Amino acid sequence: MAVSYKAPIKDIIFAYDVIDAYSRLKSVKRYSEFSKEVVIPVVEECAKFCEEVLAPINAVGDLVGAKINNGTVMMPDGFIEAYKKFSEAGWASISLPEELGGGGLPVTLSGATLEMIAASNLSFSLAPGLSAGAISAISFHGSDEQKNIFLPKLVSGEWTGTMNLSEPQSGSDLGTITTKAVKKEDGSYSITGTKVWISFGEHDLTENIIHLVLARTPDAPEGTKGISMFIVPKMLVNEDGTLGNSNEVRCNSIEEKLGIHASPTCVMEYGGKDGAIGYLVGEENEGLNYMFTMMNEARVWVGGQGLSVSTAALQGASQYARDRIQGRPIGMDKESAKNAPIIEHADVRRMLMTMKAYADAMRYMLYDNQLLLDLEYFSDKEEDRKFGEERCAILTPISKAWMSDVGVEMSNIAIQVYGGMGYVEETGIAQYLRDARIAPIYEGTNGIQALDLMFRKLPLDQGQALQRLLIEVESVLDSLDNRGEEFDTMKHHLSEAIQSLSETTLWLGEKLLNRELVDASAGATPYLKMFGLVMGGYYMAKAAIQAEERLQEDSEFYKEKITVSKFYMEQILPQALGLVPAIKAGKEDLFNIKSENY
Ligand SMILES: Cc1cc2nc3c(=O)[nH]c(=O)nc-3n(C[C@H](O)[C@H](O)[C@H](O)COP(=O)(O)OP(=O)(O)OC[C@H]3O[C@@H](n4cnc5c(N)ncnc54)[C@H](O)[C@@H]3O)c2cc1C
Repeated sequence: MAVSYKAPIKDIIFAYDVIDAYSRLKSVKRYSEFSKEVVIPVVEECAKFCEEVLAPINAVGDLVGAKINNGTVMMPDGFIEAYKKFSEAGWASISLPEELGGGGLPVTLSGATLEMIAASNLSFSLAPGLSAGAISAISFHGSDEQKNIFLPKLVSGEWTGTMNLSEPQSGSDLGTITTKAVKKEDGSYSITGTKVWISFGEHDLTENIIHLVLARTPDAPEGTKGISMFIVPKMLVNEDGTLGNSNEVRCNSIEEKLGIHASPTCVMEYGGKDGAIGYLVGEENEGLNYMFTMMNEARVWVGGQGLSVSTAALQGASQYARDRIQGRPIGMDKESAKNAPIIEHADVRRMLMTMKAYADAMRYMLYDNQLLLDLEYFSDKEEDRKFGEERCAILTPISKAWMSDVGVEMSNIAIQVYGGMGYVEETGIAQYLRDARIAPIYEGTNGIQALDLMFRKLPLDQGQALQRLLIEVESVLDSLDNRGEEFDTMKHHLSEAIQSLSETTLWLGEKLLNRELVDASAGATPYLKMFGLVMGGYYMAKAAIQAEERLQEDSEFYKEKITVSKFYMEQILPQALGLVPAIKAGKEDLFNIKSENY
């Protein structure tokens, strides 16, 4: 019995009010018409698609998975039809600019659509997600000819795209990649090498796949400075746009893995007799810089997978908790307890409330980060573009790592709610934990995100960029005044956590100035977690304020929102304070044990 998915439409719509999306996007000319009237029908339509088309094939994707036969990868039943409907409905391109043939809606809105698509079927969501990366790379850095040939069919979803970075010896450190690219007389390149773990590197959803491949030209400088980016189509494309011969690209095998079984993870061989034909994107040796321009989007997207899995797992867990009769809830008389479901136990409620609170906090963070991307890319004011860029730079590693870690934690809690049935595959809840586990690993491991926050983002503008964010976060405290006892409690906890984060940030800044870098690196992961928890508190405060101002509209819904925010502040946020000793402990204990004694 698979978990059925019902999109949390009301929560989603509310989230756009919490982040004040409509007025903040007014300054972006192309989105000046963006309003609740635009959001509601899109969210409802996408919800219907996810519930009716993607969720029903989530379990078969997990149980059957993608299969390979002599280099051909076959998707599980239902995926080809679902993908066709998905592209025809325009979901693949809803937030792409109209000039590229997309729907022209803000990236902010794709917070909601991505949430629902990945919640209903995480494996499926990877195909359009990776295509989006390829589209960004080509549209930002490709030549006009490349844009004309490749973009229309990628945008329409007729073709999919992939990102080929990893090699067996090159995971986190891409400076060591060895795939070769040799220029030919006709200006194209001969690509030879092996790429590993390439998501949707091969499949039967579409007739062509456009691979973006990182490779090294013969005279390239060593390390990350010598990496170039190439378009390598699976099927070559004729000048008139029709498909030509097969390129020398082959999927050797697909990985057996813990989760996302319907996302083929491919070992790709570029080679054959003359090498695969590749076309340089932009300039030689600029490949990694090009990658960085779309990294923010991709990382926010992967962080959002943590939210998606959490919301789907919460739905399964709360339904199970309402149905499962077991145990006598403390304080309930014997007779009433006979038919009491486990949701009447305080401990079960604690698990569900924890999931609910984290899901809300993550949703606000995700949508806000998406909105910042819109400001960075599309604002007509330079000041707003700069602001968006600065905020995205800081928030992105937090969104990616904090939300993807929380996603694993929440899908783990969901299994606990099910008890033994959670461990049994029949209920379908274990799939979420298995699927969620990849998000802290790919798109830059969470350890790498923490180092990015510590060593690249904390020193931005001599630390002023981060200070500006902390000042804004702190400014929410005054808005919690004069709203009653619940809000006073929230203010107390949030103010304590912000103060502690500010002090810890200053302390780390000193460490960086004193070049005590190993000590700082030892505290990077708990620091990122602390930052995530505090940012979550900031958003939950905004949510509580919005909810209080809307109580008249729907008192049950908004009162519950205030309760969930209060729970977050009182029972989740204080963990942030407990992380300070780990952040400040430095390297000593970690390196006082010999590596062979670990
Ligand atoms: C299912 C799946 C799908 C994938 N899809 C794609 C794809 O489509 N395209 C693609 O190119 N790749 C893809 N990958 C590869 C993925 O991006 C890498 O696995 C990831 O970047 C980590 O590299 P690695 O596995 O080599 O781990 P390693 O780099 O070996 O890291 C192992 C551990 O060491 C830590 N570590 C490494 N270096 C440092 C450091 N400098 N400081 C501190 N800690 C460090 C890491 O944080 C991690 O905890 C995929 C992987 C999987 C499993």
